[in-house]
Parts: sequence; C-alpha cells; structure tokens
Amino acid sequence: MPYKEFTLDDIARHHKEGDLWIVIDSKVYDLSRFADLHPGGAGVLYAEGIAGKDATQVFFGLHRLEVLQRPQYARLQIGAVRGQTETIKPLSPGELSLVPYAEPTWLTPGYFSPYYSDNHRKFHKAMRAFLMEVVQPEAVQCEENGKRISQEVVDKLSEINFLAMRLGPGKHLKGLTLMGGIVKPEEYDYFHELILNTEIARFGTRAFVDGLLNGGVIALPPVLNFGTLEQRAKFVPDILAGKKYISLAVSEAFAGSDVSGAQTVAVRDGDEWIVTGTKKWITNGTFSDYFTTLCKTDTGFVVLLVERSDAVSTKPVKTSYSSTAGTAFVTFDKARVPVANTLGQVGKGMSIVLSNFNHERWMVTATSLGAQRLVVEECLKWTNQRIAFGKPLHAQAVIRAKLATMISRVETCQAWVENITHQMNNMSYQEQSDKLAGPIALLKQFVSKAGRETAEDATQIFGGRGITVTGMGKVIENYHRTSPFDAILAGAEDVLGDLGVRQAIRRMPKNARL
Ligand SMILES: Cc1cc2nc3c(=O)[nH]c(=O)nc-3n(C[C@H](O)[C@H](O)[C@H](O)COP(=O)(O)OP(=O)(O)OC[C@H]3O[C@@H](n4cnc5c(N)ncnc54)[C@H](O)[C@@H]3O)c2cc1C
Repeated sequence: MPYKEFTLDDIARHHKEGDLWIVIDSKVYDLSRFADLHPGGAGVLYAEGIAGKDATQVFFGLHRLEVLQRPQYARLQIGAVRGQTETIKPLSPGELSLVPYAEPTWLTPGYFSPYYSDNHRKFHKAMRAFLMEVVQPEAVQCEENGKRISQEVVDKLSEINFLAMRLGPGKHLKGLTLMGGIVKPEEYDYFHELILNTEIARFGTRAFVDGLLNGGVIALPPVLNFGTLEQRAKFVPDILAGKKYISLAVSEAFAGSDVSGAQTVAVRDGDEWIVTGTKKWITNGTFSDYFTTLCKTDTGFVVLLVERSDAVSTKPVKTSYSSTAGTAFVTFDKARVPVANTLGQVGKGMSIVLSNFNHERWMVTATSLGAQRLVVEECLKWTNQRIAFGKPLHAQAVIRAKLATMISRVETCQAWVENITHQMNNMSYQEQSDKLAGPIALLKQFVSKAGRETAEDATQIFGGRGITVTGMGKVIENYHRTSPFDAILAGAEDVLGDLGVRQAIRRMPKNARL
C-alpha cells in the first residue's frame, strides 16, 4: 500500500481481526497480518482504545522507541494521520538529550562550569557522534553475544587514536591526530579523557566498556612511564594502532586486594626470565598478545612484559557480565621472557603497579558516572510514560523521592569527579601519585556505592522490567547486574575507603588537637 495520509475516522474503521490499524505518534500502522505474530499476543491489539485508535500512550508504556525503528516493524507503517506530525524521535548522533539531568550541567543550555572550554564542547559533540555511529551497534551486539570487539571497529577507533586518548594526556600523544584533529595533542587534558570515559558508558553495555581495549588503558602506563626508549618503540605503536593487544596481569587467585601476596615467580636464566604462575580475571586477556605482569623474584617484585607464546595460555573466566570483556585466567608455564622486557627496576615492581592504580580508579569513576546518568535518564523517561493506577508512575511520591536521591547522587559524583579531574590537570604524575591516591580511593568508593544504590532504586522503579534482559528495562537490568564490577575492579570499595582514610591520618599535623 502506498504511503498516504488518513483521517482519524478512516483509521477508526480498521479495528477488527484481519483489518487492524493503529496510530503511534502520528504514524499509521497496518497490523492486520502482524497481529498473530505480536509477542504480547493478538488479543491486546483488539482492545478498545487500541484497535483503530491512537495507541501512543499504551505503546510507550510497554515498548522502547527503538522497537518502531526495527525494519520488520517500520515496514508496517502505511501512512500518517492528516494534520499530525511525529514528535517522538531518537537522538541524532552527537545530539544532547533535553531530559533534565540526562546531561551534566556543563552541557545543559543556560548553565555554567569553570572546567570546560569550547574545545571540550567540540570534542564532546564529535566523540558522542562517533561513538553512536561506530561503536554503539557493536557494543549492543557484543554485550549480548559475548564476542570480542571486531578488528573492523578497532581499526576505526585507531583512526581517531582512541586508545591513545584513553591513556590520558602525555608524551604518547605527540605527533598523533586526535579525533580527526579537533584537539591538538598538547591541548588534550584530563577533561577530554573524562568526556571520552563518560560517553563510552552511555550504551548500557558495561562489559563492552571493558572490552573496548580497557586492557591497554591499564597495562600500557607501566610501559610508557617505566619502559626504556627501545621498549616503547618496540611495543607501543602497534598497540596504539590496534594491531596488538595488551593486558595488565597483576591479580591472582592468591592475591587480589593484597597485591603483595602474588605468587607468580620469575627466575633469571641468562638473558631470560622464566615465568611460572597464574593470573586471574585479566581484562581482555582472552585475546591479548602481551601481558604486563607482576612477578616475584629473589630480590623483590618485578614487572615484565610477557608475550603470548605456547607457554602462555588463557581461558575465559565466566563472570556475571558479558564475556565481550575477554576476562581471562592466564597460565604462565615456564614462559621465557627476554630480560630486555623488564619494565623499570627489579625490586620496584610493587611501586610501579601501585602508581598505576590512580588513573585506573579515576577512569572507573568516570565510566560509572556516565552509566549512572544514563540510568537517571531512563528512569525519568520511564516514570513519565508508564501508567499505573491510572497515573504516570511519577505521580507517586515514593517514586519521586527515589528520583530525587538518584539525581542528587549523580550530581554529587559529577562534582567530585570534576574536582579531582581538575587536580589531575594541574599536577605532575609524581604529584598525583603523592597527593591523589587517598582522594581518588575515597572518590571511587563513593561513586561505586552511589552507583549500586542507584541500581537498586532503578530496579524498583522499573519493576519486572528492571530484571528482564531485553526490552524496556534492558539498561537497568544490565546496570543492576554489572554495577558491582565498579565496586571490585581496580580495588574493592572497602579497601579503598580504608586506604583513603589511612592516607589522611598519615597527613595529620603532629600538633592537631581539639
Ligand atoms: C571482571 C574483573 C576484571 C578484572 N580485571 C583485572 C585485570 O585486568 N588485571 C588485574 O590484575 N586484575 C583484575 N581484576 C582483579 C581485581 O582487581 C580484584 O578482583 C580486586 O582487586 C579484588 O581482589 P579479590 O577479588 O581477590 O578480593 P579479596 O582480596 O579476596 O577480597 C575480598 C573482599 O574482602 C574485602 N577486603 C579485603 N581486604 C580488605 C581490607 N584490607 N579491608 C577491608 N576489606 C577488605 C573486600 O570487600 C574485598 O572485596 C579483575 C576482576 C574482575 C572481577
């Protein structure tokens, strides 16, 4: 049937089995043949107020907008209602959401921030558009099927020097074209990186955030900060170009929070180390070519860059998030590693690993922030469109109280993350290690706790859909299932809270008295 315009009276005549039309947001759909295939049953479609009528409100009480965009449903549209225009549209790539609190203050028209420049705004717009167009479809697919990120997408990421940007500002950016030249390497700062990190977390695909070359984000800094010129020249370019992959291999079944309990051993044999041991929960490990590995020696800890070989095997660890993250159990079975692959000094391995944690922990707070904001947006939309007891959900005071707390949490997290980011922008790597380990530990504890509380509230607000993998509540289900990861990775919440306070106690003035 050709696309045409209909009056509401025309449409009302098609209200029975074999001849069924409905209207959703000004568009007319012919469901005559589809009715029997409707996953929710045909009966509901013939109900009064739906068959031959404008079913917009009922539809959005049950379905996400994206359902209408799927080709199999989009082709059911036969025309539009005369005199009406479509009002409900998805965001175009790069577009800002107008839902209150869906964007941070600095991106909300009419509000201000001391931290962001016009360049940050340009960068944000381009990054959001790029991620929506290039990454989001793959993120959604991989989160579901558990496959690793495709080389095709990695190649596109490499074109904008995505991994280099995920590593933050620094010398490694020199000579690179970042985001198509929107930001110069010397201009790129931690707020650009904060933008990148919050944006990658906006698809409701937590495991894919880690699958998005997170191994490199945490495993390359020891190479960049402690590696020799030769080591950097040999390993870094291929990794930044997405031709090789790298993971950080510190944790073991024996040693998680207590890193010093690591039992993987490196023994010198001429020009080689012989590495024996196992590492657990290694992000991207199932597909990495290199492992930045903490090992014990006779003279203290050492960090070695171990290359995959027959003596290095990996197998997936099945966690409660998708295997797209490539979480692995790694076995080193007398793996021979050239002494030339030693990162930094023998005996200093522990301080290399510890100095790496600040950036990783800050990054986790940034991705959590992006995810929490998405959850707030989902909840505001849902409570607006879901009708229960004859009213939108947000007509209930108890729901509004939950929303108030969720909004307050995300805004608090945002303010604290931005404050710490500002400190990072003004401190050297050494100063950050010295002054920010405590504050970042406390920040991460706070943000991950806030995230889990928000996940609980959101699940209540979404009801059964909040614990259903597909459909209306899919973002909430994913976040509820995966928000504990932010509380464990890069340092468990309680351990970090304790670290933050111990650091503060260490700095107490000797003469401080009440
Ligand atoms: C999906 C995933 C990906 C990961 N990726 C990597 C990776 O790429 N590379 C890597 O090296 N590691 C990785 N890890 C490991 C991660 O860093 C550890 O899981 C984390 O450090 C906690 O260690 P653990 O699980 O052994 O917990 P444990 O150390 O056994 O602690 C268990 C719990 O006890 C409590 N606890 C422990 N000590 C204290 C204390 N002193 N004070 C108060 N409470 C305490 C904490 O609540 C803690 O959660 C990953 C883990 C997961 C789950």
